Amino acid sequence: MSAAAVTAARHLAESDEPRSLSWRRRQLTGIREMLTADADQLAEALEADLAKSPAQAQLTEIGVVLSEIDHTLKNLESWARPRSLDVPLFLRPASARLQPEPLGVVLIISPWNYPVQLCLSPLVGALAAGNTVVVKPSEIAPHTSAALAELLPRYTSADAVQVVEGGVEETTELLRHRFDHIVYTGNGHVGRIVMRAAAEHLTPVTLELGGKSPTWFDDDERLEAAARRIVWSKFTNAGQTCIAPDYVLTTPDRVQPLTQALQKACRQMFGRDPRRSPDYGRIVNEKHFDRLAAALQEHTSANRAGAGATVAFGGAQDRAQRYFAPTVVHSPAPRRGARGLALTAGARGDDALMAEEIFGPILPIVPVDSAEDAVELIRAGEKPLALYVHSASAQTRELFERRTSSGSIVHDAGLVQAGAATIPFGGVGESGIGAYHGEASFRRFSHDKPVVEKPYLPDTLSFAMPPLGRIKRALL
Ligand code: NAD
Repeated sequence: MSAAAVTAARHLAESDEPRSLSWRRRQLTGIREMLTADADQLAEALEADLAKSPAQAQLTEIGVVLSEIDHTLKNLESWARPRSLDVPLFLRPASARLQPEPLGVVLIISPWNYPVQLCLSPLVGALAAGNTVVVKPSEIAPHTSAALAELLPRYTSADAVQVVEGGVEETTELLRHRFDHIVYTGNGHVGRIVMRAAAEHLTPVTLELGGKSPTWFDDDERLEAAARRIVWSKFTNAGQTCIAPDYVLTTPDRVQPLTQALQKACRQMFGRDPRRSPDYGRIVNEKHFDRLAAALQEHTSANRAGAGATVAFGGAQDRAQRYFAPTVVHSPAPRRGARGLALTAGARGDDALMAEEIFGPILPIVPVDSAEDAVELIRAGEKPLALYVHSASAQTRELFERRTSSGSIVHDAGLVQAGAATIPFGGVGESGIGAYHGEASFRRFSHDKPVVEKPYLPDTLSFAMPPLGRIKRALL
């Protein structure tokens, strides 16, 4: 199956067709049509996989891709235009330009948490740049995977988009083939597997990974507004968002007021019993549910050993429904170790809630003495995918911008950076390699080929040709 898909995609990529802008536009308008005419089918699949309501599906998946397509269609012609380059004096007379050309066949391996958006957004960029594409949706969102496999070929030209469904075995098989670029979105462990396989063929990769994205809070004046935005960013999709705030850092005196404001915001958004809210999602499967339940249990049981982690609110769970309530935890203060301040978990000091990306609706609040300590703590860990700062102080905002490194930094909000086609999206260090969206996607999936024209006359090049004795004389 995968060999046939790759061969068909390669065959088309080697023809002239995908080079034309009209072919590229046809693919994008086709996907646009799919997202409007068959939006219901996709929304139903998202509801079956993640209990996303139709409104959530529209807001966080379908709508994001539609605006990506519109932005790309509007700008494609100017992005695809050659850009002229300066030529230095010694090369004149001559002209040089950068001509973007398609890479060939792009492989997209996508995850389950935003299974429509994270499959189609890179697809839009890869097609816009004139590539053909093999898409491997996540088997962990099986309804969405099946819907994409059925719909995409119907709305795009024959062989332009090959959907290969399956899990580890099928992906391993796919990765044996040669591609011209691989986009992988998911965790760093598999990211390394993908990069190793890509190295066999010297294939460049874009890795969209995750990590623990911190949030700093010290904006007392706008406590309630900040709490609403933190709740929205954290508990959308039940916390299963790569750029969700992983934990909050604030000073000890702010822990209680912030907790109360977060609880109030949760009630406003999801009601007294979030289980009944159409806007509150479910954990994708039992395995992830059990992982979260165990992490919470382990973190709070450290309390009995005197470490001080407690559930401030939430914590309710229903495994049969895969319901995990929005949960806020008061975590212990970080400890100072050999590498400076580090998140700790009391008794053992390495429980999953503090050591790994949470990727679920549990929000620890970690007290630190100052913004400087927060910076030290963040710098001691891996570079996060996102960093959020809620501070009225220009100095504090600048401190985080200057002293920390992350895929992106957002002041006074969360999640918003991922939905804008004009803002490149990606990680740095452990949180990923390469950014995409809008023009960044077009450039990522194109080769910028320099084209140089050097006229025969006047023949200035002969000065560089042996015998070089006269140059030596002129230079001495
Ligand atoms: P996942 O399990 O769905 O895996 C992603 C893809 O990798 C799937 O298509 C899967 O089939 C494939 N895969 C899994 N194991 C493999 C293996 N051994 N060999 C080859 N392919 C394999 O998704 P996940 O990793 O659970 O997703 C969650 C992670 O993704 C989190 O860390 C999250 O932060 C990150 N994420 C990042 C972004 C981003 O844009 N940076 C977006 C969403 C999720």
